[in-house]
Amino acid sequence: MAELRLHGRPASPGLAFSKLFVLPDRSSEAAQQPSGDAAAEAGRLRRAIAQAVQELEAVSQAAAEDAREILEFQIAMLSDEALSEPALASIAEGEGASASWAAALDAQIADYESAGDEYFRARAADLQDLRDRVLNALSGRGTEAVPAGTVLVARDLQPSRFLGIAWGEGSAIALAAGSPTSHVALLARARGIPMVVGLGADVLHVASGEDAMLDGESGTLVISPDAQTETSARKRNADFSRRREMAAAYALKPAAMPGGERVAVMINAAGPEELQPLDASMCDGIGLVRSEFLFHDGAHLPDEDAQYKAYRRILDWAGDRPVTIRTLDAGGDKPVKGLTLDDEGNPFLGTRGIRLSLLKPEVFRVQLRALCRAAIHGNLKIMLPMVAVPRDLESARAHLDAVVAELQVAGVAHKRPALGIMVEVPAAAIAIDRFDADFYSIGSNDLIQYVMAAARDIATLADYADAADPAVLSLIARTVAHGRQTGREVSLCGDAASDPAIVPHLLQAGLRALSVSAASVGLVKAAIAGALPG
Ligand code: PEP
Ligand code: MG
Repeated sequence: MAELRLHGRPASPGLAFSKLFVLPDRSSEAAQQPSGDAAAEAGRLRRAIAQAVQELEAVSQAAAEDAREILEFQIAMLSDEALSEPALASIAEGEGASASWAAALDAQIADYESAGDEYFRARAADLQDLRDRVLNALSGRGTEAVPAGTVLVARDLQPSRFLGIAWGEGSAIALAAGSPTSHVALLARARGIPMVVGLGADVLHVASGEDAMLDGESGTLVISPDAQTETSARKRNADFSRRREMAAAYALKPAAMPGGERVAVMINAAGPEELQPLDASMCDGIGLVRSEFLFHDGAHLPDEDAQYKAYRRILDWAGDRPVTIRTLDAGGDKPVKGLTLDDEGNPFLGTRGIRLSLLKPEVFRVQLRALCRAAIHGNLKIMLPMVAVPRDLESARAHLDAVVAELQVAGVAHKRPALGIMVEVPAAAIAIDRFDADFYSIGSNDLIQYVMAAARDIATLADYADAADPAVLSLIARTVAHGRQTGREVSLCGDAASDPAIVPHLLQAGLRALSVSAASVGLVKAAIAGALPG
């Protein structure tokens, strides 16, 4: 067979050379299973659900702490009557238990998969796990064993399934769907298993037993790799192993430049769950929490209490380290149904970030109240996205003043956090001295797209997205200089900070605080120390 290359999204770094093992999709078989009378079928479904709950409880008891929380979340979902209601209704109309359960869960999975929000999409895998477990219990069939040391190919993979597999040398995961922020991607990263997601349905048509090479850094799966691909990949594999060892050596140490000057290395987080498996001593705090993880659908916006609890979990994880939570940055490539405006021709230049919050003060104030209440539990700062003119900041500050006064009058425990801005619109970087914020954090992802006039979601324009472009670096240096003159912290929390090749340019521009992806902390610290080969 000629070499075949499939491209997806990197979810866990590392290279694997092994045979493919393709996991069969159970939901398509469910429709063919015979059905009995309605009462008997409903009873079978209830018993299968109870059995699946028991299985999950057993896996949970044997699991490590990071995995237990994920499993408890699944158990809670499965025990919720609302999940089985549509299937029971379809059984009452004469459908069989397996077909009803598969159809009801598939409909919910499709809903989750089509959600605009990455976090919400990632939850689809949890539902697939629940679907398959119950289907297996209904058919009396056990779960098939995955041979150790293979590249597992599946539509999506579920946490409890992941935990039941004996991973070994050469093991890797290649998913047709899936998301880098899914529970299973967190587990794969924590256990060093290379993983690529979003490879598309074609990957499901390959045959088990084919030779394959999976590259979790570039997000590629090569089936039947030719000799040249294999040689160059093996060389990169050796480099990767050296880099991984180096990253591990630096990961838990404070970051410092060769002369000893300290650089703060914080992490970015998309929610409390991904923090649970991490050791907080790896970082100097959280430089960016993208609060979008809470906002999935305008019809079900998170209430103040739900937000307070989520923010508090993040603060509890961080201890006394600073935590910067960004207010909702919906819009652009992150629409929220029922909240963002859907009639804008160019949403990246539209009503996103702080513009939307100011348009919907009733939503913005709930978030500010929750943040002020959570602030008593740690070192919290609030950051505003997409600030373009000083009045964006001033209007947001007025809302914060009002919320603080309200909490005061009501006698609710709270604290007023520092209020900073993202510097990601060129107008803010160019005239930074107009913005009287408590701190600044450069959002290089957006700053680059607006400076280079190249949308961040157009892959063919990726060459323009160069953080080392002199135009971008001059705006970064300008912002840093203003921070120095006025004694306010300037950090950078866009993806550029997670790229060890870009880090020297950022330090050269004067930055001494970076907020990076948790997976890149070790390498970024090694780059700061000047320890990576040029
Ligand atoms: C950025 O623009 O660099 C940033 C950190 O924000 P987001 O990627 O969420 O737009
Ligand atoms: Mg941004």
